[in-house]
Amino acid sequence: STSAAWYFQDWRRRKAIKRIPPRPIELRSDEIVPGVIGLIGNTPLIRINSLSDALGVEILGKAEYLNPGGSVKDRVALQIIEDAEAQGLLHPNTGSVLFEGTVGSTGISLATVGRAKGYECCIIMPDDVAIEKVQVLEKLGAKVERVRPASIVDEKQNLARKRALEFGATELTNIPAHGDELAISTQAEPSEVEHTTDTVGDDEDTSLIPHISLPQILRPALETKPRGFFADQFENESNFHAHYKGTGPEILRQTSGRLDAFVSGAGTGGTVAGTGKFLKKALPDVKVVLSDPEGSGLYNKVKFNVMFDLKESEGKKRRHQVDTVVEGIGINRNFSLGLDIIDDAYRVSDTEAVAMSRYLVQHDGLYLGSSSACNLVACVRLAKTLSRGSRIATILCDSGARHQSKFWSDEYLQAHDIPIDTTIIDQLLAS
Ligand code: PMP
Repeated sequence: STSAAWYFQDWRRRKAIKRIPPRPIELRSDEIVPGVIGLIGNTPLIRINSLSDALGVEILGKAEYLNPGGSVKDRVALQIIEDAEAQGLLHPNTGSVLFEGTVGSTGISLATVGRAKGYECCIIMPDDVAIEKVQVLEKLGAKVERVRPASIVDEKQNLARKRALEFGATELTNIPAHGDELAISTQAEPSEVEHTTDTVGDDEDTSLIPHISLPQILRPALETKPRGFFADQFENESNFHAHYKGTGPEILRQTSGRLDAFVSGAGTGGTVAGTGKFLKKALPDVKVVLSDPEGSGLYNKVKFNVMFDLKESEGKKRRHQVDTVVEGIGINRNFSLGLDIIDDAYRVSDTEAVAMSRYLVQHDGLYLGSSSACNLVACVRLAKTLSRGSRIATILCDSGARHQSKFWSDEYLQAHDIPIDTTIIDQLLAS
């Protein structure tokens, strides 16, 4: 009888399929992607079904992990390189080397785009980030140098700049990347926040434009010699523009302008500032909300306008270090991001981020990295404050594959007393 039932089901299924008229394939033009770079951006916006159904609020994730280099940073690497080329700072296939300090994603993206375009790559990385990122970089042919994890920014950025200079780069200021006027400032002290009214586009409302300064654009000493180029994602305004011109407009299009909030973490702040600024300009009622991991100072900055007290923390913890298993977001240094576009912030614990990542695999088949999980916890908290039928978009920055030895390692989490308990998410959804 089982087999008869199966046959009947199968027969009905085949009958149903037959009823769909075959669609003629129109042969109008080629649909071939012109190389790996053509795969960057235009990522899908996915409805996260488990969370959306439970909340009655649509949670939409921008699938940045589908970029060819595996993360949102492909957009940034491409924009930085193409802007530098347009300014005559980089010429492909001349032995030029891209230098950057990064926790991994930006490095992998620079190495990927660099390979596709004809540049070498040298990446300075803290020595405590997940080892698989180093392995990917080395497989891509990048040189990797590791530094102490004492600072989320300064040590690796400074060494990357130094290496670029050693390789024939010359430090220059006053090179606006987009042909617009920019106020050039020196690097902010850790306890200062700067807000300026830089002009980034012609028709811009300057009050919302985050301060992106350009103190260290490097020009080659000699055009014909191999030379270094410091990508400088923390200060390079191409980072902001990749999101202002790419991620933001794509989300606007994909939601047909029906969007209530945008949630993002901040590492350099490029994603939240560029995307958030664009969406606010297009849809003035959109709320831009920060997801911040434990130990990061941004939450306090947004909520109470006070930065993590560095002096107090010295001796207890290494200066500037964000003590979390979440990689890529959270920071204790003021940076060029205009925090004034951020309406609110949620602090997310390691335990919640870990629980969310496991929950999403179980319910949606989504295998995500730590910053994506952190964003989705913040989305759930935010959804609780919004009316039914609202819509929240966020960034799925990278996949779990980049996090197997830390965030996705049960042994690592156990050794660091971080429980794996998906009931936390059930409770969060039910609360
Ligand atoms: N997620 C991951 C995995 C990252 O590597 C980064 C960048 N460090 C971010 C999120 C944050 O992006 P942004 O630098 O634009 O703030």
